Amino acid sequence: MSPRPKVLILGAGFAGLGAATKLKTAPVDVVLVDKHDYHTFQPLIYQVATDLLAPQTVAHPMRTAVERQPNLKFVKASVSDIDLESKTVSFKDWEDQTYDYLVVALGTVVNFFGTTGAEENAFPIYTLNDAVRVKNHMLRLYEDSVKAGPDSSRMLDTVIVGGGPTGVEMAGAVAHLIKLSMGDDAPGQQATNARITLVEHADRLLTMFDESMSAYAKEELERIGVTVRLGEMVSEIGPESVTLATGEEIHATTTIWGAGLKTTEIVSKLSDDLQHGRVPVGPMLNLKTHPEVHVIGDQAWITDAKTQKVLPQLGSVAMQAGEQVGKNIDRITRKHKDPEPFHYRDKGSMATIGKGAAVAQLPPNIKLTGRPAFLLWGTVHLALLTGGGNRAAAATNWFITAMSKDRPSQVLIDPSEEE
Ligand SMILES: Cc1cc2nc3c(=O)[nH]c(=O)nc-3n(C[C@H](O)[C@H](O)[C@H](O)COP(=O)(O)OP(=O)(O)OC[C@H]3O[C@@H](n4cnc5c(N)ncnc54)[C@H](O)[C@@H]3O)c2cc1C
Repeated sequence: MSPRPKVLILGAGFAGLGAATKLKTAPVDVVLVDKHDYHTFQPLIYQVATDLLAPQTVAHPMRTAVERQPNLKFVKASVSDIDLESKTVSFKDWEDQTYDYLVVALGTVVNFFGTTGAEENAFPIYTLNDAVRVKNHMLRLYEDSVKAGPDSSRMLDTVIVGGGPTGVEMAGAVAHLIKLSMGDDAPGQQATNARITLVEHADRLLTMFDESMSAYAKEELERIGVTVRLGEMVSEIGPESVTLATGEEIHATTTIWGAGLKTTEIVSKLSDDLQHGRVPVGPMLNLKTHPEVHVIGDQAWITDAKTQKVLPQLGSVAMQAGEQVGKNIDRITRKHKDPEPFHYRDKGSMATIGKGAAVAQLPPNIKLTGRPAFLLWGTVHLALLTGGGNRAAAATNWFITAMSKDRPSQVLIDPSEEE
């Protein structure tokens, strides 16, 4: 009897997990690999950075996911190379693996666009570890500011770079953390006077949304104490400053970078024709030259089979593309049918701006702002969050913050600190 085909899935993000779950009944052996032993729910990591949620609330253990799928083995390992000709993947910390089908879904990493001092002095906000680093840094500054008392007026000044959803959500959450919670906890230490600045290169925030929603987001951020600087380029980041291209210097003890992502170098092993650093794939989400290799999620340059539009780097695109690949491998191996082309079902975009404020743009032309958008955002994100325990924890913490100025996860845990 010939062995079952081996499906090697690289990355347990939205795309990789989407593919794995659709292979449950396929007559294949699935090996899912990720450098972390958890799946990160990226849309909520800004809430970890700002003490709303505990890190484990947005991290779903891979072992729990695996035990529900008998044909799947999860391995925690870090991918280092892919050789398409020998159908082999190499790892930093595991032996080489061959495959019959390969699914590449390794996501993206931060892109500082060569900004001087950014790598050394800015905090990216793309991974769970990034979020915990921001959280601990801000909590340390806060404790220092309590010690300094009335002299602490500039100790919590924060700049957020990037006015897309990540920057806007982060700016709103930082304003609430510093001005509401920290200000309320230690009234003498000037947290309410902290300057929080959001810097965006474009002439409006949230450029993927309708202009009216960009205007609403700006107004709402300004209402809660964020200074919004549009049409400004950051040229340098120092330990306590952000310099704009105009030469103006903004004081900042914390600089958070939400301005860009790039794919990792490994994508160059998959294509000589990268589009904006992403791997172009065909309608079945695979490589023309190697149809057994699928590239999905943020690493892929996907043209929608129906609309012919290039799809954005979004969790919903990644998840649906992953599911399509899983279904297609299932169709080939179990149903003995041809694979089907990928068509993305756009369910809309949303972003929070602060407590009780959000924007939501839903097809065909529904635009919501304020509390209705916030409630919709909360419902959708609770439904998407992986794991019942995580959903309950998030709902509880959101309820606490809705009813009070408390931040339920405002604890500084750092094992490197001396007892
Ligand atoms: C802060 C933030 C907020 C966001 N908010 C939203 C939102 O509200 N709505 C939305 O639709 N999208 C949102 N996105 C975008 C969305 O999260 C991404 O589009 C989505 O995660 C892409 O899925 P992916 O599977 O391609 O990559 P990822 O989810 O990034 O998964 C990649 C996986 O690969 C693993 N990996 C990487 N390198 C290696 C390696 N060398 N070896 C082994 N494993 C590796 C990583 O650990 C990770 O688990 C947000 C993104 C960020 C950063």
